[in-house]
Amino acid sequence: MTRCKILVATGNRGKLREILEIVGEMPVEWATLADYPPMPEAVEDGATFEANAEKKALHYASLAGVWTLADDSGLVVDALGGAPGVHSARYSGSRNDSANNRRLIAELRGVPQSLRTARFVCHAVLAEPGRVLACAEGTVEGVIIDEARGVNGFGYDPHFLLPGLNRTSAELDAAEKNRVSHRGQAMRRLAEQLERLLAQSHI
Ligand code: IMP
Repeated sequence: MTRCKILVATGNRGKLREILEIVGEMPVEWATLADYPPMPEAVEDGATFEANAEKKALHYASLAGVWTLADDSGLVVDALGGAPGVHSARYSGSRNDSANNRRLIAELRGVPQSLRTARFVCHAVLAEPGRVLACAEGTVEGVIIDEARGVNGFGYDPHFLLPGLNRTSAELDAAEKNRVSHRGQAMRRLAEQLERLLAQSHI
């Protein structure tokens, strides 16, 4: 196993680019699933973001035989008992951002603004085959608003208002979002641990 090669468990090179912008320069040869022959998909049926990120990282680390970085993230809304949570990607029954947002706003009908507190959560895990090496979590607090605002980002961003900035996630550019986002925080925390692991393994 080449220790300084890290597979990011996504087929999306955009996600790799985003992670590299967050973690900065590292003595690592990065790859995505697109660099490997097709592998069976990880089953993300865990009850928590942590469980799903771990499953994904361990699954691809074992199949590819290299260190693997995986994350799982989603939206947690207090007035909905934590929903959509680990079901964020398919809250409406399909992977459709507009439909997911419509359901979110419908579920919150009649709930006053003061009770619409929510957070994005991201859990990131680095694993080698058979063993978790590091994990980190990031959260960002916000409030869900009925009116969609902004065109950047994806998912629930247009309805997620950051009270301190008085802007939605979709009104932030990519660099601003990375500075405050759940994923930005989780990846920076994981990168600190990765630096220590790389130093220990004398690469
Ligand atoms: P994944 O962990 O990247 O698969 O994200 C799961 C789902 O959570 C996404 O499909 C989105 O619906 C939601 N989500 C996660 N992160 C964000 C974000 O930064 N903005 C908006 N929605 C997000």
